[in-house]
Amino acid sequence: MPPNGLDAKTLFEGGEGITYNDFILLPGHIDFILDTISLDTNLTRNIKIKRPLVSSPMDTVTESRMAISMALLGGIGIIHYNNTIEDQAKEVRKVKRFENGFITDPVVLSPFHTIMDVDTIKDTYGFSGIPITEDGTLNSKLVGIVTKRDIDFEDNRTKPLSEVMTRQLVTASSGISLSDGNKILKESKKGKLPLIDKQGRLVSLMSRTDLLKNEDFPFSSKDKGKQLLVGAALSTREEDRERLAELATAGVDVVVIDSSQGDTIFQIDMVRYVKKHYPHIDVIGGNVVTAKQCKSLIDAGVDSLRIGMGSGSICITQDTLAVGRAQGSAVYHTAKFSREYANIPVIADGGIAHIGHIVKALSLGASAVMMGGLLAGTTESPGEYFYEGGVRVKKYRGMASHEAMEKGGGKRYLSVEDRIKVAQGVSGTVVDKGSVIHLGQYLMQSLLHSLQELGCKSVHDLHQGLYDGNLRFEMRSPSAQTEGSVHDLYSSKEPHLGLLRRVR
Ligand code: GDP
Ligand code: 5GP
Repeated sequence: MPPNGLDAKTLFEGGEGITYNDFILLPGHIDFILDTISLDTNLTRNIKIKRPLVSSPMDTVTESRMAISMALLGGIGIIHYNNTIEDQAKEVRKVKRFENGFITDPVVLSPFHTIMDVDTIKDTYGFSGIPITEDGTLNSKLVGIVTKRDIDFEDNRTKPLSEVMTRQLVTASSGISLSDGNKILKESKKGKLPLIDKQGRLVSLMSRTDLLKNEDFPFSSKDKGKQLLVGAALSTREEDRERLAELATAGVDVVVIDSSQGDTIFQIDMVRYVKKHYPHIDVIGGNVVTAKQCKSLIDAGVDSLRIGMGSGSICITQDTLAVGRAQGSAVYHTAKFSREYANIPVIADGGIAHIGHIVKALSLGASAVMMGGLLAGTTESPGEYFYEGGVRVKKYRGMASHEAMEKGGGKRYLSVEDRIKVAQGVSGTVVDKGSVIHLGQYLMQSLLHSLQELGCKSVHDLHQGLYDGNLRFEMRSPSAQTEGSVHDLYSSKEPHLGLLRRVR
């Protein structure tokens, strides 16, 4: 038989920098159906997740809403640190407190607030079903509820809520399951179901409008207490030890030491500090792109590594500093070394521009992919939508863009205290991609198809094939790359390789 492409060793060990678009994977033999494929993988030495998806700690990508969605999908979100310690810890807490279908931090008012306060909430958040507690906070005694129907025809908007609220309430106990809560909502025909503890204090709220939205998430990433998993970023700076303490108290599961060049004495010290004082929290070190850098951090005690230097979509490091590595080569070499040296998983970070790049990153040995740009512009990413040239967009910016650094985001770069700040990233916009839940489900369905084409039943199989030479690669000439994308059409409706098509 003629040679069937190349093995990864031949492809990557020739000294040239190769990245995702430069190669293609050759198909394998299929003797199984899609449903039998497992996407289970290791995020770190100790943390297993069911989907290899990680959202990047960037201030236009990951706060609690994104992290909740990523964990529901079976991946994990890493909360950024371009904020105060309190704010970052608060975001972590929101993820840990989240229960699917339950509003765990509902807006609450007291009997002394007025109808005008409800109007303001309606204008700001869009809802007007407000539980009323004795002192207007969560975990205080529930005394009533105000809904649209209580205040619709009231002319005097300064009336206190005590005069208009409904006092006869249908409630349920806070330990109730989602399906039992949904049943009560259906049967009672009420719009809201407050959940209370034994002392009658408000714990959370369910909303009738969410009945249909309450999806089941069979792959969600959870800890032993059945709470969603969440990560948070830390810098290597001494003062971030205090940040770490707050994050630990908030229940963070894993921390990412967020540096653009991870092989520093500062990071080694921080890794050792976390492992010594918080042995139950896993540490993802990085960023690194060479085996030598990996060795420094593995020796310091990291549980996983984040791979990439200059490959991000908003990144100008390679142009500016002339240091970095082609992402394909970086992933291949670091993954191989880390597996052989200490069986430490690696996360391919940056440069995932298309669905196909996910399987390519995994096929080079990554256990998961970290994404910024692909997840930015979704409903769950921080920031408001606006229009640019008639297109609905959201802002997406590098953490070392001038704009983000002004807000304190340059902590991953050594230059943070410099008088003249050299930007290593840009600020831009990305199109509205709708809900990240649907996008994530679409990406993962596509990954399943991809593994099937390769004849691999799991991420583990894919890695096995990579290292025993059964997984076959081929370089693509520039014209082969053109041929492999949409070409020669007068017009096309899929500007982002299918990403804009909704699953439902
Ligand atoms: P309302 O009847 O005016 O309260 O609004 P709907 O029930 O039609 O819609 C409320 C939507 O906002 C639901 O999807 C809720 O899950 C969501 N939501 C998020 N946070 C809150 C909150 O604090 N209070 C209420 N009432 N809804 C919230
Ligand atoms: P993307 O998924 O958009 O291609 O890349 C996201 C990754 O780019 C992040 O996870 C992070 O590693 C990296 N990154 C974020 N901001 C900056 C920046 O300002 N400069 C550089 N060089 N890299 C950045």
